[in-house]
Amino acid sequence: MVSLPEFDVPVEKLEELIPPDLLRKELSLPERTELDVIRHFTRLSQKNFSVDTHFYPLGSCTMKYNPKVNEDIARLPGFAGAHPLQAAAQSQGILELLYNFEKYMCAIFGFDAFTLQPAAGAHGELTALMMMKAYHRDMGQAARVKVVIPDSSHGTNPASVAMVGFTPVVIKSNGRGNINVDELKKAVGEDTAGLMLTNPNTLGLFDEHILEVAEIVHKSGGLLYYDGANANANLGICRPADLGFDVAHFNLHKTFSTPHGGGGPGSGPVGVNKKLEPFLPIPRVVKENSHYALRVTHYDKSIGRVHSFHGNIGVIIKAYAYILSLGAEGLKKVSEKAVENANYMMNKLKEHYYLPYDRQCQHEFVISAKWQKEKYGIKALDIAKRLIDYGFHPPTIYFPLIVEESLMIEPTESESQETLDAFCEAMIKIAKECETDPELVKSAPHDTPVRRLDETKAAREPVLSWKTGG
Ligand SMILES: *Cc1c(COP(=O)(O)O)cnc(C)c1O
Repeated sequence: MVSLPEFDVPVEKLEELIPPDLLRKELSLPERTELDVIRHFTRLSQKNFSVDTHFYPLGSCTMKYNPKVNEDIARLPGFAGAHPLQAAAQSQGILELLYNFEKYMCAIFGFDAFTLQPAAGAHGELTALMMMKAYHRDMGQAARVKVVIPDSSHGTNPASVAMVGFTPVVIKSNGRGNINVDELKKAVGEDTAGLMLTNPNTLGLFDEHILEVAEIVHKSGGLLYYDGANANANLGICRPADLGFDVAHFNLHKTFSTPHGGGGPGSGPVGVNKKLEPFLPIPRVVKENSHYALRVTHYDKSIGRVHSFHGNIGVIIKAYAYILSLGAEGLKKVSEKAVENANYMMNKLKEHYYLPYDRQCQHEFVISAKWQKEKYGIKALDIAKRLIDYGFHPPTIYFPLIVEESLMIEPTESESQETLDAFCEAMIKIAKECETDPELVKSAPHDTPVRRLDETKAAREPVLSWKTGG
């Protein structure tokens, strides 16, 4: 044995650092080498299907590329090491960022103020509806309890409406995928709290009568709510507040390139015009002289807090970095490219799949497996499963509910033409397979470690432990 020289290095004794009553008495950890652990986690990470590995055209969800520079910025020690209970004087950088971010959101979407607290789209909906309720109460109009929603809406819309104690009133879309104006006129009245609208909607279509729709709702005394969860067609092109919307939520984890999937964390800021500003959650970030502060006073009508501290800061920092790196011109290009990509694919696929609304789409489009179902008994689900064999994440299926056997495709701006072409080729190949070998499509996927799952059983009897059988 060699004898190593001894240096005078102070060694901290664990027992002296941690109070004895907090020291763990028993320890049972699996004994593995570091290398085994590294290999285990590296292998797990390689099993992940993500935008970093594959095309992920999940309609409505905007699975765009998440620039790595955003991650680097959110990880800067000044951000990552900050504590939410630090005094405002010690958090000037973060408060300034929140203040500026709110101003950017106002400029991009046309609203007068924003809250950055909501942690997701659905949470933003809840926050906005709570403000709408507070507004009507304040106006002595508590009897306004009905919220009109078109049948193409995202499922969170009626759920959020019910959650605040309002009543959803669902109305049908017309043959062009727009809200049915005659039905809307019949649905609104003295009990209308407002309308919730996604525009472009979940069919990827821009409502051709939006100004008339806004006028009808406002005339009835209702408020206009914009579901901007996916605003990927709007940037630099169309601001919801200019169309007449009073309040809206936006998902940073969709339009603003922050990662999502797997349940979060996300961020769903809510923008309001002057009518609703007094009801915004507190605290609000304000600028006093050259200092930033968190203010809770002066907001008697506020609905209160909807999140601890300032919301999901890390997500907001990434979205801030995205906006700064693109600038106004870049943001506009994002939407132009997203719309161009979607139309390119729609036109390539419409010969092979039924296209229920044959008109220019925005950031996404919906096709249907109706022909394949009628002729070969092949459903949207089968086509989705077969796409996995070709290395693509399936698009959203069976949503929106108003299109039978729907496949909702959103390419986003970040994909190359080669990728779009490869996906379309796979879709066209599958359409051919439906004709020549329908069983191949019905029994897909063939190349995955696990074949087709019993999805009903998985939902009803989920196995949530890694120790099975036991
Ligand atoms: C994603 C989405 C939502 C809900 O957002 P979450 O962050 O998942 O809660 C609401 N509306 C539309 C149109 C969406 O696409």
